[in-house]
Amino acid sequence: MSKSKELPPTRRSSLMQRFALLGISVSTALLFKGDNNLNNAFAGDLSSGHALVGAPALPFVSNEGEQNSNKLREKIADEFGIEIQTLDEVSTAATAARIFNGLEGLLFSYQDWNEQNLNLLEHTLENLPEKFYQPDENGEKVHIILGPLTHCGSSIKNFMPFYPREIMLSSLYFRPEIPLSATWVLAHEFGHLVTTDSCRQTDSPYLDKIEEILGGNFDQIKQDLSGEIQTQAEQSDLSIEESGFVLPIDSIKTPVQEAIVRLTRLKYGLSNQEEFIAVIAESYFLGKNYFQRMYAPFFPQDVVDNLYEFARYNIFDGTEYPDYPYYSCQA
Ligand SMILES: [Zn+2]
Repeated sequence: MSKSKELPPTRRSSLMQRFALLGISVSTALLFKGDNNLNNAFAGDLSSGHALVGAPALPFVSNEGEQNSNKLREKIADEFGIEIQTLDEVSTAATAARIFNGLEGLLFSYQDWNEQNLNLLEHTLENLPEKFYQPDENGEKVHIILGPLTHCGSSIKNFMPFYPREIMLSSLYFRPEIPLSATWVLAHEFGHLVTTDSCRQTDSPYLDKIEEILGGNFDQIKQDLSGEIQTQAEQSDLSIEESGFVLPIDSIKTPVQEAIVRLTRLKYGLSNQEEFIAVIAESYFLGKNYFQRMYAPFFPQDVVDNLYEFARYNIFDGTEYPDYPYYSCQA
């Protein structure tokens, strides 16, 4: 049973009303890049809680559309044995959380998940192992909170209730035109969640295992690898975003664009061991050949193979994916 609540119609104020209420000018919106701009930034996480992407046109959602969305939300929650709620529903300080979380939070209402976004969420969940979302042995359900992209509350955990298994997803990443990216984002966030005992203890029990596979201390490897990534980027004249922001995976059209994504995400994975594991998860989801292209330039083959096997058995429950699995959304 879903405990998702119906949203009262009064919650859905117009965009202009929102701007007025928040006391910000419409020109602020121009800080976002256009929706079709290939330079759209796209980030896979964002433990920092900041996940800016090019702004899509805000969907017009009628009351009927809203009711359909709420019904669909309950259907998906029942289908996968999860809870789906908006940040506004679970947080008494959602506005404060938005301000804390920057422009994305100010300009978008988190309940603006329309039917298309939700249909894509349903398809992406179908594409992932049941272990990711099924209730655990204690019957603890996964809570998907519709809010800024992150997991276990991250930087806004003080503004919301505690859930032992929780990821937060933004509708900006669940657009029908970038379906592969939506699953890629879920693979990253679930990569965090399934390698963590509980959101109470966010250190992964697999940290020692990762160091064992890498054959050394993570900090030392981080230092060496950062230099190697930088060198390779300079030699190939590639520009690497420090933030981890990349093109939506669906938009990759050339080897150069893919190389930029790989190097940027590898570098982002060096932020800490938990991110290293989550980046392994997102890379694994893109297939064995992609995984090879990602890690083989920097690690011996046996290390690459062991990282792949780690992802296969410790994260993805044995499920493997073809290179760039692309499926069409039926939304
Ligand atoms: Zn992450």
